[in-house]
Amino acid sequence: MVARVTLEIALRKEFDYAIPPEFADRIEVGSRVKVPFGPREVLGVVTALIEESTHTNLRFIATVIGQQGQVTPRILALARWIADYYCCPVEIALKSVLPDAVRKETPGWRERLYVRVLPRTGEAPKLTKRQADVWHVIEEWRELPLQELLRLTGATGETVRRLEDRGLISIAPQISERDPYANETILASQPLALNPEQARALGAIARAMDAGSEGVRERGSGTATPVARREPPLPHSPTPSPSRTFLLHGVTGSGKTEVYLQAIAHALAQGKGAIVLVPEISLTPQTVERFKARFNSGQFQTLVAVLHSHLSAGERHDEWQKIRQGRARIVIGARSAIFAPVEPLGLLVVDEEHEHSYKQEESPRYHARDVAVVRGQMESAVVVLGSATPSMESFYNVHRGKYTLLEMPSRVDDRKMPIVRVIDLRAENRKVKGVQIFSEKLKEALAQRLERKEQSILFLNRRGWSASLQCPSCGYVAQCPNCSVSLTFHRAAQKLLCHICGHTAPVPRACPEPKCANPAIRYAGLGTERVEDTLRKLFPHARVKRMDSDTLKRKDDYRRILGDFRSGKIDILVGTQMIAKGLHFPNVTLVGIIHADLSLHIPDFRAGERTFQLLTQVAGRAGRGDVEGEVIVQAFTPFHPAIQFARRHDYAGFYEQEIEYREQLKYPPIARIALLVVKGRNEEKVAFWAEHLRRELEKMIAEASSTNVESGKAGKRESEFVELNLDGSAFPLSRSPAVSLSPPLRDLIIAGPAAAPLARAETFYRYQIMLRTRQMTTLSRHLAKLTETIQLPDDVTLTIDIDPVNLA
Ligand code: ADP
Ligand code: ZN
Repeated sequence: MVARVTLEIALRKEFDYAIPPEFADRIEVGSRVKVPFGPREVLGVVTALIEESTHTNLRFIATVIGQQGQVTPRILALARWIADYYCCPVEIALKSVLPDAVRKETPGWRERLYVRVLPRTGEAPKLTKRQADVWHVIEEWRELPLQELLRLTGATGETVRRLEDRGLISIAPQISERDPYANETILASQPLALNPEQARALGAIARAMDAGSEGVRERGSGTATPVARREPPLPHSPTPSPSRTFLLHGVTGSGKTEVYLQAIAHALAQGKGAIVLVPEISLTPQTVERFKARFNSGQFQTLVAVLHSHLSAGERHDEWQKIRQGRARIVIGARSAIFAPVEPLGLLVVDEEHEHSYKQEESPRYHARDVAVVRGQMESAVVVLGSATPSMESFYNVHRGKYTLLEMPSRVDDRKMPIVRVIDLRAENRKVKGVQIFSEKLKEALAQRLERKEQSILFLNRRGWSASLQCPSCGYVAQCPNCSVSLTFHRAAQKLLCHICGHTAPVPRACPEPKCANPAIRYAGLGTERVEDTLRKLFPHARVKRMDSDTLKRKDDYRRILGDFRSGKIDILVGTQMIAKGLHFPNVTLVGIIHADLSLHIPDFRAGERTFQLLTQVAGRAGRGDVEGEVIVQAFTPFHPAIQFARRHDYAGFYEQEIEYREQLKYPPIARIALLVVKGRNEEKVAFWAEHLRRELEKMIAEASSTNVESGKAGKRESEFVELNLDGSAFPLSRSPAVSLSPPLRDLIIAGPAAAPLARAETFYRYQIMLRTRQMTTLSRHLAKLTETIQLPDDVTLTIDIDPVNLA
């Protein structure tokens, strides 16, 4: 037997290695291994086992890491899809499917000393008072970590050793699992009786799960499953019906989480597991607790593993191993939890599916929601995407029949949606001189809440004191020397700060333009810091707290501030979008949005969608208790559709007008985007290479479509990729340029190169080319070929972002 290995270092290539007899029964597809490569040894993953290699003189695998194959064949298949679709080397995709702590060469388990009671032989030995005290504790526990014993009894290690000498106990190292939630007491929860809307949603999901498990049995194991052609479902490719991907559109507070919980119970009842993705920011202890509380005990008792970036490496290692060993069948986590090796997988939930944090902003630039949909198809699992403000992409897929829509338009217990008032800031500013942060209406509303001892949230999507420092006479604006943005003034720290690269500068006393030197240099725009300050002046007795990335310095600050808010120690919470997400505060009856149009003025075709989502989500924070909520939206463009539809809680209306605009301009979800960004310190060079890339790409595409037409070989390459088997046997990897790329990209729109909206960041100039097409898999392959054939100079880099969410 020969193992085919993907190395962590070499790109887009696999190598064959001989398997030493002593490893024969430990090596499987997905095993992590260390192999000799040139003069050194490198890590890699076994991607296939083959009878014979075409190469001779194979070298031997040096070490196998871990007891079990770490990358399961299914995850391997998923990694291959990611590499193909998101246009990156398989090695890069493989790296991100395992947490770093698991990928390490040495086992990451923590060993601790445990004290254990030994079976008694003969007479009880005589003990001193101190020893007897300690002994009684051990006797009661039977077994406990030494450290824990010392803490409980206040004894010294010496005393415990004496007990060992007397033959009463043993002290030995043992693997000790780290449990990040060990210190929380979690009370068990029971399934709630569902309201009719919830019951209908759960019914549809459960039926799909029941239908799916038959499907899996019919298929049997090891059959070839075509993988390569799967795009996250968008316009093309025939509809599998009925769809096993659901879009659960439920307003905030409609009880979506309860539906997830009961759907998970259904998966467990079928002997399957589930993965729940939540945005990093809403992965609070509160959220995790709801899942643990339901499944830590009861009929389907199982461990709930948690994966997110705030865990220590050791904790992440242990959580992951619990999943791999099949002990934890429910995983809740942020983006990368989509790769959790849950098997068999019955259900995938993506909560707040519209969230942009599901997109990874470094290679592999995957979107976890789309990966979830693809994984669901590959593993015959049901996928539930949940949101109060679904992405245009997902709703479009409903219209095209790709997803099944489930709606929950009312709040649990029929609590009313909050009343939303829009205030015209232009009119407000005409009334009084100078810029008003708080309109009269908002001031009154705040005063009223303080009086009634209710809580308020104020939202502004910009931290700092003011947006920029501007000279009113010459127009000078303090700019970042590295990036093409203005610096933000932070008053408490008395400095100017770049929000892109972190550059800081002192605050000038006068305009730095030598000819001007006007001492009356002023602050323009507005940030959370200034809102907080003004608020304290307006309401000196109110307890005000600000929450943004400036005030969150330590790991548990976030938790602490929210805890204080929940327990009523804060009257008014001021913050950035950090406070807009999935938080549940029953006593909040007022939400104020200081500048609703801030997010409208970004150079991104999703600006309107983002604003609509943000306003709806923020408004959803109000009135979740018994008192009706009120939302006050201040805006300079009060009649903008994003604001008006949000005011009326009218998602469908917003979608209808927005999709029209996307259709006209062929923007997603009508087509897909691939964004090529060329970066370098020399602007001319960057512009030159960007132009060169465009020309080469056009040439390549023209050639491909002409050979397609001539030879009639359309589809050949696609069928080749279909050979990929889920059990990891034989697949072609070489991207041979001889193979035609089909079907021809007739709908391709190329825009650029042009300077990116953020034209310079961290001293690098950025040029971009935007490509739009419906046939992204085909375009991705062209792009992969392009990166292989074009040799960029060392000081120019190219990044390819498929389905980008961030265009600035
Ligand atoms: P969403 O996720 O849609 O915002 P949640 O699942 O957080 O909504 O539900 C909001 C609140 O309503 C939670 O406190 C939850 O416990 C409660 N809830 C959900 N479903 C029910 C139900 N069927 N009966 C009673 N209370 C419910
Ligand atoms: Zn900067």
